[in-house]
Amino acid sequence: MGAMTAAGALSLARQIAEEILFPSAMYVDAADQIPAGHLDVLADAGLYGLAGPAAAGGLDADAATFCNVIEIMASGCLATTFVWLQHHSTVRALAGSSNSALRDRWLAPLCRGASRAGIALGGARPGPVLLRASAVPGGYVFDGSAPWVTGWDMIDVVHTLARDDYGNLVAALLPARVSATLAASRLNLAAVNASRTVELAFTGHFVPAELVSGVVTHGQWLARDAASLRPNGSLSLGVAARCDRLLGGLAGPAGQSSAATGPLVAELTARRAALAAADPEALPAARAAASALAFEAAGLLVTGAGSHSILAGEHPQRLAREALFLLVFGSRPAIKEHLVALLADRASCAGGAGV
Ligand SMILES: Cc1cc2nc3c(=O)[nH]c(=O)nc-3n(C[C@H](O)[C@H](O)[C@H](O)COP(=O)(O)OP(=O)(O)OC[C@H]3O[C@@H](n4cnc5c(N)ncnc54)[C@H](O)[C@@H]3O)c2cc1C
Repeated sequence: MGAMTAAGALSLARQIAEEILFPSAMYVDAADQIPAGHLDVLADAGLYGLAGPAAAGGLDADAATFCNVIEIMASGCLATTFVWLQHHSTVRALAGSSNSALRDRWLAPLCRGASRAGIALGGARPGPVLLRASAVPGGYVFDGSAPWVTGWDMIDVVHTLARDDYGNLVAALLPARVSATLAASRLNLAAVNASRTVELAFTGHFVPAELVSGVVTHGQWLARDAASLRPNGSLSLGVAARCDRLLGGLAGPAGQSSAATGPLVAELTARRAALAAADPEALPAARAAASALAFEAAGLLVTGAGSHSILAGEHPQRLAREALFLLVFGSRPAIKEHLVALLADRASCAGGAGV
């Protein structure tokens, strides 16, 4: 890593998660937007540059450190971590872009967190084209929809993918601002609602060539996507880890709200190791197992903590809603298939009958 070591990044993330994120997680859960101060703390700590190259001021974290930081932060506050996490895909895309003017303009401020980014990858979905890029003099015109874009009003730019007439993906770094040709509709979420997730509608939206970071074949993008499913698994590990700690606290002395570890620590270690070891073929199963663990851990916590778990201001019900969200967020057909099989298997064991 750049100036900061991996151990330094982990200890900083731990401190922020325990001292800032977790203590206000219930407030953020009910809020309309992530407090600006939370995101500024992450920027000041250098964590917006976690995945960025050292030459642009980034921390250039290795894969293990990157994922461990995500897990630690998600155990503090999933909503804040979720908004911050989108940023890194843009940083990586820009770092690998051959558009040097665009890279020079944005990469360093993004690594500092002075500018912040979201992603709109819906245009890459296989099947019918959701967002079309038509070549015109001087650039492209985007038409269609990007169905999920997180962080609206908290980001400056959005890394957007659209499909051209040849089936290639055009990637562009667009200003995250509504206009006569770009509308944003807020989605009301049962969890992480402060992430301000929107659906974007593009209507004849002109994208100058200067903002295009690259054009790749759909096949190239899907192969990259399949290899990059690991980090979202750490969101599930973070939620499961917090459930585990709160479960550990339940067994402790009266008034103790959390312990260092609880009854699920061995399972967490196993899920973490499986994700770390997985190649693109094994990743969907490892992701599904991590999501299932968060779901079961939250159920265990709600049950173990009892009726007060269900009060609106209590952590267990928040974590349970977040675990539900993680059953579907960042999914892919293979992850869904594994997760459905896992949950159906457990449901049929519990009921003593086949599904
Ligand atoms: C609250 C929330 C916030 C989100 N925020 C963002 C965001 O900021 N930016 C963003 O780009 N996405 C975002 N997503 C979308 C997310 O990354 C996944 O695409 C989505 O969670 C998958 O859900 P789904 O299985 O219902 O499929 P849908 O997104 O409804 O997609 C339809 C189908 O296409 C498949 N599919 C999608 N992508 C691929 C792929 N690369 N390869 C193969 N199949 C694919 C899906 O698995 C599914 O079968 C968000 C999703 C949620 C729920």
